[in-house]
Amino acid sequence: MLKFIGTGSAFNTKLGNTSAYIKENNTLLLIDCGELTFDRILSLNLLSDVNEVHIAVTHCHPDHIGSLGSFIFYCHFIKNIKPTFHAANSDFIELLEIMGVTEDHCAFDNCAFDPTVVIDSLDLGLYFMKNNHVKELMSFGILLVKNPSLEEHEYIIYYSGDCCDIEDNILDGLKEGNINYLYQDTCKADYDGNAHLSLRKLCELIPKELRGNVYIMHTDEGFDFDEAEGLGFKVVEIEKGGENKTMRKYIVWEFVEHEGWESHQFDTLEKAQEFKDRLEKVCSNEYILTLNLDY
Ligand SMILES: [Zn+2]
Ligand SMILES: [Zn+2]
Repeated sequence: MLKFIGTGSAFNTKLGNTSAYIKENNTLLLIDCGELTFDRILSLNLLSDVNEVHIAVTHCHPDHIGSLGSFIFYCHFIKNIKPTFHAANSDFIELLEIMGVTEDHCAFDNCAFDPTVVIDSLDLGLYFMKNNHVKELMSFGILLVKNPSLEEHEYIIYYSGDCCDIEDNILDGLKEGNINYLYQDTCKADYDGNAHLSLRKLCELIPKELRGNVYIMHTDEGFDFDEAEGLGFKVVEIEKGGENKTMRKYIVWEFVEHEGWESHQFDTLEKAQEFKDRLEKVCSNEYILTLNLDY
C-alpha cells in the first residue's frame, strides 16, 4: 500500500505536495516530486537503507516535479545511487535535460510507447494511463500491480495523479474487483472547468459500498475531511516522523583565557543550567547560557 510524503493540492502547502512512495527491499519508488517533496524526503530520512530508487511522474505541474532535479542530484552525488526515471511522455525527460540532469545522473526509462514498467525488486508493475487534467499538458494516472507475473495479485491500485474525472475502465475495474484501491485527486472546489474532481462528483461516481476502497488525496484548503469520511471515503495521511527537524539546543559559552569562547551543547535547559552553575562555583571563567535553534 502507498505511504504519503504530502497530501495537499498545489496551493495547500500546509499538507505538502501530494507525493506517494513504496519502500521495500532497500528500494524506493517515489510517485511525483513537487516543490516541497525533496525537503520532506530529507526530513523523513527516506533514503536510509535504500540502494535502488525509481521515480514515476504523473505530469509536469510544479507541485508534481518542482524538486525532482534536486532529488535526482542528491541521489547521485550524495547517496551514490543512480535513480531510474519512468516517464510516459518524452517531454518529461527533455525538461530534466534542460535542468542539467543527464543520463550520467539518472537512467531514463522512456515508456511513452510501451507504458509498462516492472520494478523487479518491488515485484511491482506500473502501467501509465493517460487521463484528463488540463489541456496545456499531458498527464497520466498509474496502475500499480503487485506481483504482476502471478495470476492472483496481492493488490492492484489505481493512482489518479491530478484528474478531473474517473475513466470508465477504472470505475469498471473497481466495481468488478479488478482494482482493489483507488487513490483519487479530490477537492472541495466545485465549478465548471475544474481541473480536479470535486467531492460532489466523486460521490456521484462511486457507489456507497465501494467508497471504503477509495482514498482521497491532493485536497485543497478548507476540504472537509469529516464530511468525506462520513460519506464513506478514506482520506490519505502524511507519513509521520522527522517533522521536528528544528531542534532546540542549549549552549553554555565558556570564556577560556588565551583560547576565547568555547561552547558546550545540551539537549535540555536543565542540563545546561546545572553545568553552568557547577562550573561557576569552582572556576572564575565567564559563562553565558544561550538558546540555539539548529537542524
Ligand atoms: Zn497537483
Ligand atoms: Zn496538476
